[in-house]
Amino acid sequence: MAWKSARSNREEAPWAQGPSGGPRGAFTDGVVHVFWLSGMSCDGCSVSALGAVHPPVESLVSGNIPFLPKVVLHHPMLADDVGRDFVEPFRQAAEGTLGAAYVMVVEGSIPDDQTLERSGQYAALGVGADWPRSLPSSRGPEQPVRTSDWIWALAPGAAATIAIGTCATWGGIPAAAGNITGSMGLMDYLGRDYRSSKGVPIINVPGCAPVGDNFTETLSMVLQYLEGIGPLPDFDDLGRPAWQFEQTVHRHCPKAGYYEEGVFAEEPGDNQCLVEIGCWGPVVQCNIVERGAINHMGGCMVAGGACIGCTMPGFPDKYSPFYKSPPGSAISGGVSKVYGSGIRRLRRMSMKTGNSEPLWDNAQEVPTGWGLAREARQEPLDKVNIFFYKKLQYNGTVHHGKRNKKQPLPGSRDILRQKGVNLEASVPVLGEKLKSREEI
Ligand code: SF4
Ligand code: SF4
Repeated sequence: MAWKSARSNREEAPWAQGPSGGPRGAFTDGVVHVFWLSGMSCDGCSVSALGAVHPPVESLVSGNIPFLPKVVLHHPMLADDVGRDFVEPFRQAAEGTLGAAYVMVVEGSIPDDQTLERSGQYAALGVGADWPRSLPSSRGPEQPVRTSDWIWALAPGAAATIAIGTCATWGGIPAAAGNITGSMGLMDYLGRDYRSSKGVPIINVPGCAPVGDNFTETLSMVLQYLEGIGPLPDFDDLGRPAWQFEQTVHRHCPKAGYYEEGVFAEEPGDNQCLVEIGCWGPVVQCNIVERGAINHMGGCMVAGGACIGCTMPGFPDKYSPFYKSPPGSAISGGVSKVYGSGIRRLRRMSMKTGNSEPLWDNAQEVPTGWGLAREARQEPLDKVNIFFYKKLQYNGTVHHGKRNKKQPLPGSRDILRQKGVNLEASVPVLGEKLKSREEI
């Protein structure tokens, strides 16, 4: 429902009208500066962004993505410039003299250090002498400029503002219960009325750490919009890229089949669904298992880890204690166990039938040399089940498979035996390690 209301709001919003369809470079002149600010952060979001492949940061900054403006990245850890040279473009942007469009990216939560009670600083960039004279500052030329200062100074002029990671989006771990910094997410800091200079509210790409591709993909779509070659993409009512965060992680989980069949892991490392050892996937919006953590590889459950809800605004407090089964799983998991135990047996039966050539059924033998050769004989219960199964399967259509029963066995079947080739001397290397298909 929230998603629908966000869609209908779009028609009213200023960014719904343009610049898509307008002239190229509507807001950019072919270059967009990206100012990267770090608040209360572990820098994991930077690491994730650097690992992105679709598109990679290298392509964005080298300007070799067709039609996208070239990105001039100002990142504290990736810059060639140091000291005043590095901070100077920040000052120009805050003062309105940069002469180019810019996007502000915030990593890490924002400490509550603007208030008198907490005056001091927890995260900073440059010193007071680097600060625009046109803006109020009370901290003196030698005092560090707080990240929270840069944010309020740069936000109004930014063409778009993107919060990357759960700390910047919703406060995350630095804002967990008991924090002494008063940390908060960017929406809380700037307030609900904030719009960028192009009318766009804060864009949130959560995750701890986020999927790097989620960020670079969102940034490049925003750049397309600023360049005038595409619409602003769909965001939900919390500013998340809708196509990335619409679905629960459970829906695309590689272990979802286990959940449905009611088979659950008892300890970390087990293959089965992880809900009973603390997975919150069924109620968490995240795309990591379909997208992969880096280069389409890995991602929590793909690597055997339970979801602890790190993309969600309630993280971490509402998902703790970690690795304890969520209360709701007692109901849904219990239902799955009952339903799944029956369904599983029926599926094994179908699998057993489908795992046998019609020829093997006729010959009542499976010509496998893999140790546990079995007869393709059907037990009486199997026969009853298969009879009704086939009735349903071919109801209203023709059962061509019946003709298999009349098919004579091929004359050259089992040719080595027919020719009297002696295989007695072969070495029994397989031992007893093999499993039958039923056991598997
Ligand atoms: S591991 Fe988690 S996300 Fe995957 S199927 Fe189980 S509950 Fe769902
Ligand atoms: S699956 Fe859960 S823990 Fe893993 S990234 Fe997504 S939200 Fe975070």
